[in-house]
Amino acid sequence: MNALTDLWHSGAGRSVDPELSVVVPLYNEHEVLPMLHERLTRVLRSQGITYELVLVDDGSQDATSDMLDTLAASDQAVTAVFLSRNFGKEAALTAGLQQSAGQAVIVMDADLQDPPELIPQMLLAWRNGADVVNMRRRSREGESFLKRASAYCFYRVLNAVSEVDIPADTGDFRLLSRAAVNALDLVVERKRYMKGLFAWIGFPTVEIEYDRPARAAGASKWDYLSLIGLAFEGITSFSIAPLRLATISGLLIALGGVLFTLWIVVKTLVLGDPVQGYPSMISLIAVLGGAQLLAIGVLGEYIGKTYFEAKRRPVFLIRNVVRRGQPRQATAW
Ligand code: UDP
Ligand code: MG
Repeated sequence: MNALTDLWHSGAGRSVDPELSVVVPLYNEHEVLPMLHERLTRVLRSQGITYELVLVDDGSQDATSDMLDTLAASDQAVTAVFLSRNFGKEAALTAGLQQSAGQAVIVMDADLQDPPELIPQMLLAWRNGADVVNMRRRSREGESFLKRASAYCFYRVLNAVSEVDIPADTGDFRLLSRAAVNALDLVVERKRYMKGLFAWIGFPTVEIEYDRPARAAGASKWDYLSLIGLAFEGITSFSIAPLRLATISGLLIALGGVLFTLWIVVKTLVLGDPVQGYPSMISLIAVLGGAQLLAIGVLGEYIGKTYFEAKRRPVFLIRNVVRRGQPRQATAW
């Protein structure tokens, strides 16, 4: 990733860095892209600042890439970043942050669930000295009860077990100062749970509440399975509580086992109650077997993570970048 950073950050073709970069990951978002561009442009122009829109195409299979090409050719403020395939939102965000040049960077979703109209407020907080401005959802529209309830529980559990305070009900929508973005760049882990990393870097942080509208168009890219995956990723990236839980329950079960054995010995020798107990034996085997498999599974999750980190594969690959209408193929990493 660093050679690539050097290549593109060497300043070639870059005159003055904009004050603000808005980074948006896009995966099959052709339905919202025109609306997003229009609303962002309207808000940003009214602010009288220099800005760039870093739109990252995360290997979309629909018309998103073509639309982005057209946009980048017609609007000099658009920096279009094309990843070589679908790497997932966390990777797309990382790519966008790496390619951004602004003094402040705002990260938001493409589907207008993060309203661009809030940007002036975020800029104000940044100008007043905040390095990180978190946008906290007061309410969420258009999301099922199950999704809201599971999100609620997830954030509470995550916070209880992780070493850093990961703000509840805060998505990826936030503003980061250049210093904060540079700090994030130092985090080299491959499996990137961005919400956690944003919190992990610290820096003076301000929170702004807003009501989250429903998706403007198109469908959510997440199904329950991938959300559960993300939740697990979040917890295992920021905590070893599951390992500790395995240790503690192992300890308790072992203790129970010893007591039970003592009881059996006493029962057999003192009370003279010989062979019996197929039910107790089979239930013990089942409980212990289950607990062991669970603990091994949890261990495996962490070993798997280590395995992926150890490979040190790049988090993403960029196919090409169009900046100020100028395409640049990725030729070296
Ligand atoms: N996204 C992405 N890559 C993916 C999946 C999603 O870049 O593999 C982007 C998507 O285009 C959107 C953002 O991540 O800009 C959030 O996705 P979505 O709105 O589907 O998630 P939800 O709001 O339902 O959690
Ligand atoms: Mg969304």
